[in-house]
Amino acid sequence: MESLRFKALDHLNKGFSKIKEENSKKITEIFNENVFTLDVARKYLSDEAYKSLAASVKGNKKIDRNMGARIANGLRVWAESKGVTHFTHWFQPLTGLSAEKHDSFFTLKSDGTPLEEFDGAALIQQEPDASSFPSGGLRATFEARGYTAWDPSSPAFIMEIGHGKTLCIPTIFVSYTGESLDTKTPLLKALVALDKAATDVCQYFDKNVTKVTATLGWEQEYFIVDAGLANSRPDLVLTGRTVFGHAPAKGQQLEDHYFGAIPERVYAFMRDFEQESYKLGIPIRTRHNEVAPAQFECAPIYEETNLAVDHNTLLMDIMDRVAKRHGLKCLLHEKPFAGINGSGKHNNWSMATDTGVNLLSPGKTPKTNLMFLAFFVNTIKAVHDYADLLRASIASAGNDHRLGANEAPPAIISIFIGKYLTEVLNEIEARVGEKFDEQDEAMLKLDIHKSIPELMLDNTDRNRTSPFAFTGNKFEFRAVGSSANCANAMTVLNTIIADTLKHFKTDVDGLIEKGEKKEVALMQVIQKYIVESKTVLFEGDGYSDAWEKEAEKRGLPNVKTTPLALDAYVTDKNKKLFKSNEIYSHSELEARHEIMLEAYIKKVQIEARVMGDLATTFILPSAIKYQNQLIKNIIGLKDAGLSDKAYANQKQVLEKISGHINIISDNVEKMIEERKKANEIKDTREMAIAYCDNVKGKYFDIIRYHVDKLELLVDDACWLLPKYREILFLR
Ligand code: ADP
Ligand code: MG
Repeated sequence: MESLRFKALDHLNKGFSKIKEENSKKITEIFNENVFTLDVARKYLSDEAYKSLAASVKGNKKIDRNMGARIANGLRVWAESKGVTHFTHWFQPLTGLSAEKHDSFFTLKSDGTPLEEFDGAALIQQEPDASSFPSGGLRATFEARGYTAWDPSSPAFIMEIGHGKTLCIPTIFVSYTGESLDTKTPLLKALVALDKAATDVCQYFDKNVTKVTATLGWEQEYFIVDAGLANSRPDLVLTGRTVFGHAPAKGQQLEDHYFGAIPERVYAFMRDFEQESYKLGIPIRTRHNEVAPAQFECAPIYEETNLAVDHNTLLMDIMDRVAKRHGLKCLLHEKPFAGINGSGKHNNWSMATDTGVNLLSPGKTPKTNLMFLAFFVNTIKAVHDYADLLRASIASAGNDHRLGANEAPPAIISIFIGKYLTEVLNEIEARVGEKFDEQDEAMLKLDIHKSIPELMLDNTDRNRTSPFAFTGNKFEFRAVGSSANCANAMTVLNTIIADTLKHFKTDVDGLIEKGEKKEVALMQVIQKYIVESKTVLFEGDGYSDAWEKEAEKRGLPNVKTTPLALDAYVTDKNKKLFKSNEIYSHSELEARHEIMLEAYIKKVQIEARVMGDLATTFILPSAIKYQNQLIKNIIGLKDAGLSDKAYANQKQVLEKISGHINIISDNVEKMIEERKKANEIKDTREMAIAYCDNVKGKYFDIIRYHVDKLELLVDDACWLLPKYREILFLR
């Protein structure tokens, strides 16, 4: 039987009938078409119900129960006008994916009359049978009830899948006893904490500020490959990455893919998923090729963080579905292919006031500059003090392959701020011991906005290697993995900033109480924070070995693997941080730690199994088949009376293949033994470490090395797995 590989290649060669594209409409015509925005709500709700909803949306407040029924009714009428029959609470459990359980509006009255209805209670709260979502022991399985509750700050939307249309209500997901079981609940709490702390600090500069929102603009990297080829690789299907595969003769060395022309099939896919995104209010703005072959990126206009996170989760889902429609497969894994770049999801982050000011945008006057400087330096201090937590927030089995792999930010968290701002901070720091006064030169001279052109210059080269870079009016957290839910990184970032700002205010107030002028007090605390946290600033090449050594000297953490990085979630210091800011209780943190370790274990376990299976049932049989051909050939040559010399090469290849076969089968056996040993370990953390060090660490590379060598020796016609050159370059 012909292998799937060759069938897929055949299919590709036949070419593709283009899928019918809708006439493209102007984006403004379809934007938000499937979203219950406040404008839509205005049309479908009574004055009272509308006001109640608007107040909840703006104030981040729970929906008034009495209004629930009326809002639900309006929502249903709107949804039905668009052909919707079902609704679901849409939430993001700790699986890292989104979850939904559909119910229809259809019901029967007591006399059997059919009716469509959506009652208020069903809108506001549901109790999905949640026993199979990860809970880290928080919800014993006999008490399987968790409940989902509407988060009005993210609007309801209609998801179209094929001809089915479902009304989705974004919700939080918590256990019956109130512990969070999702990624949204802690994020919302962190955003509240940030709002409070940042608004308080804003009061030093502008009394009119009553609210600060954290803003997020993510950049999503991904690979697009032919679905037929991808589906012929069980490793891609089951783990999202290739566990084997020799680098192709041509990789990314020509640098011809980056910003190159987008291939037509991919272009059709992009336009299609963008249209779907616009309908759901996801403001996609840019698309381009990335560095690696078959790698691309898209980015939206930034939004309020909670909404941006929901939109990213939705987008990942949409991309996956739309790709299938085009006979393509969208790979969101951090490292689908060895030897070429992996994928990340840069999180561009800032804070905006309700008076319309970006707090990380350098001002044009000394006063606004001082405000900028305060938030800027507080961010640096927060990242310095909690580098371990930031590292933990992006830890995953997938991201471990990418971080520090000479193409992605290292596992060391440092900050790039550019030459000009470095000079500004140096100048302030140099004056330790001196006193600032109100008419101080240093303060008046802070012409920080002049540094922007220079920052942009820096932006193009050196700072690309930084995991956390200031890029003109925002920080860019680049170490986030491409498949991650941004909520984890954003919860940690906003919490540590909130906490740092709280302490900043206490410190400044302390000096003011002692009689210092406000500006002087601010400058002094800013100076103190610069001194305390400047070791986290780094302007050089983050990919270099020299930086690793330098960072060690500076005492910066450099934790390379997930099981150890996750420790940061449960240190005393960090438990206290989360508790005092009301983000996580200790038990919630311990549960999350456990869940993340379990996820890690399962991922590595699956990869190890796939590796063993593929080696045994795909790779070795191909190699043996080719060996037999060689043997036949040698015997034939011998029979024909030829001398040793005539088949010397065949013999050599035969020997090489035998060598690789032995090493592979040996190591697969040993890996299985090691897995069994790891499975016996009771402590989850110890088990994760065993999987990391003993299963993955000892065997993955060596097995792969020899399999990839075989790929270069064995007759191409016998090879079952699509090769890199095919997956990466054919579409
Ligand atoms: P680059 O591509 O050079 O990183 P862009 O200007 O294209 O920079 O921005 C990348 C992302 O940063 C976009 O999603 C953009 O909306 C977002 N962004 C810009 N300003 C802010 C801000 N103040 N807060 C959060 N994100 C922002
Ligand atoms: Mg960027």
